[in-house]
Amino acid sequence: MEASRVWYGAAIATCALWGGLLVLARSRRQWLTLNSWAGDAPRRLMYTNQLPYDMLDAVLHRASAVYSPAISSWRHWGLVLENRDLPFVEVMLLQPGEQWKPPGRLDSPTHPFIAPSLRIFQISSPTLFIANALDTLVLANSAPDQLAATIRELRSLRRFEIRDVISDEPVDWTTLIGQGTWPMLEELRIVCRRHQSYALAINAIAVSLPRLRELYATAAVLVKAPLAQHVHLVHARYVDYARVLAGTPSVTHTTLRGSADVRLPDFSTRVWPGAATIRLDSLISLMVFNDVENYGPGLFSALSAPSGEIRLYCDLRAAPNHQGVLDVDAILRTALNAEGTDASGFQRAFDHCRRALAISDQEALLSRLDVLNPRGMRDPSTPEMRRAAQNLLESVQERVNNPIVSHAEATLRDVLPGVAAAIRFRATDHEEHGTLEIEGQPYAGGRPNPVRYTVTARNVEGHTRRVTLYMTGRRVCEGWNKLDRWHPKDSMTWAASRMFAGLRIFDIGEITIVENGFDALERMTRSSADVAALASTLACYTSTHTLHFKFDVNATGYGMLRAIDSSSLPALKTIRIEGGSIDSSGENAYVPCYRAWFEDLEAALMRLQEAGRALEMLKIEGHVCLCQFWIARVRALVGTLRVDVTCTRGVGEVCIFCRTSSAEIW
Ligand SMILES: [Zn+2]
Ligand SMILES: [Zn+2]
Repeated sequence: MEASRVWYGAAIATCALWGGLLVLARSRRQWLTLNSWAGDAPRRLMYTNQLPYDMLDAVLHRASAVYSPAISSWRHWGLVLENRDLPFVEVMLLQPGEQWKPPGRLDSPTHPFIAPSLRIFQISSPTLFIANALDTLVLANSAPDQLAATIRELRSLRRFEIRDVISDEPVDWTTLIGQGTWPMLEELRIVCRRHQSYALAINAIAVSLPRLRELYATAAVLVKAPLAQHVHLVHARYVDYARVLAGTPSVTHTTLRGSADVRLPDFSTRVWPGAATIRLDSLISLMVFNDVENYGPGLFSALSAPSGEIRLYCDLRAAPNHQGVLDVDAILRTALNAEGTDASGFQRAFDHCRRALAISDQEALLSRLDVLNPRGMRDPSTPEMRRAAQNLLESVQERVNNPIVSHAEATLRDVLPGVAAAIRFRATDHEEHGTLEIEGQPYAGGRPNPVRYTVTARNVEGHTRRVTLYMTGRRVCEGWNKLDRWHPKDSMTWAASRMFAGLRIFDIGEITIVENGFDALERMTRSSADVAALASTLACYTSTHTLHFKFDVNATGYGMLRAIDSSSLPALKTIRIEGGSIDSSGENAYVPCYRAWFEDLEAALMRLQEAGRALEMLKIEGHVCLCQFWIARVRALVGTLRVDVTCTRGVGEVCIFCRTSSAEIW
């Protein structure tokens, strides 16, 4: 008796083992053997193209796990499972390859399958089921009405993701999710296409999600989620984002990639919540990725987030160069009016236009041209090309009369007071000023990362708070004489002047410029218009007493040095320079001298002295080799000079004491 019970237990365990190993079967014979050894035990089934599906289907009712990975061929699993009893199944990951999936809407099953043990379920076709223990659900390739039918009874669900929605129409996600009851839901992800998102209806009823922790949606969904900590929205209007935040008062981290071109339902709202009515007391970080021109100023006024850091992306490039449009207009007219312009003549004109539009940054017209005259077009006829030229000319003329202007600077100035109010920055009290740190960040993917501007100041409670702006500026394009007329007249220094215009409200006491692979204040060399713009903005910076430069491999802040003149930064008293970190590669280590930079500094100090406001204190420290004659000259230009650097015995760029390589010159 005893022995047979042991044997029986072992046999059951062994059957379960074979059932589990079924998933590894690579051939029909292996599979059949393991299947017979498994007896009545639950099985793990792996659908692959090496095994006939009907063979596996025959034991589906005994499955504990079912896998149909991307390497298996397409199958409408929702219909396969219809009406089945699956008492043992705990996990089903049914996402076969979609190469042979029919396009458009997939058929809906009419009867549910029943799976009382199912905990994790991913499926890429419409489905109906009763699964009262379900924990995690991922639904793909369903239409909105199919989703609504599926989600009615999901009371145990903790994690839910919807993706690859099938719908040509925008979807009212709030109403759709509102069809379910969600007492346990902790994570909700909705990933839909642009045209499938809808603005919130004015009378939308927030979906109650009492345990939700994280929301990620590429559309606006109005929720009432008192515990939600992470809220990430993409392609929602600012006003809708504000409404969502109002329903998630515990949010700690939130991001918005906002959009203005969302389809509007019959009754949407443009009315902002009242000032400081959305209290986010737990907020740590709110980040908005966007072009500043689209920012909704009402968002920040509506917020009260005394503990949070607010981070914004803003594109502060100048408008595209209008000369590019004028020249393209002339090129097209010439080609159209000339006698006997043939297809290749038009093609040459288009190539010329393409260059002008690309260099002058006229992106909209450039993509119009790419539509009318696709690259690699084969043997177009002359009339075709003429028509394309006429069509392009129409768009170009519209632009000739309406040059693109940038509102970025003005919008930033409108938005920042709301931001300052939201984190309750203390108003100017002339006791303690804020600080500003500017860091040019290294290249990523061929272009510099945005320049980071971080303002740190105390709020009314006396706590330190930060606002960070990630600024996109334009690199200087000079040196291509022929193309110069098309390059936008712009530079990082010019963009900085727009940024400083917005940051004025923060009453900055100290400005730190950090080198990190890229000069955040790169300036034009052929013209000083950018420096002049920065200087005139800095004339309003009446609290700034200290400029601080931190070098690394290179010096940084050339535009700032040039902008120091008789009227800019009227309260400036101190300049501090920190050389790069010491290269530990031995005694031959290179000691930089940053000669051009220090010459620019000397010129700035002379301008200050001539204006009768000589700098009080100049401190230079760190890994620098300074020219001894430069030090002697500068000592006469400033009140106090403190120098604590690696070497002070250089002569110009040459030093026999710390620069072994240049010693050979002597
Ligand atoms: Zn998150
Ligand atoms: Zn030296």
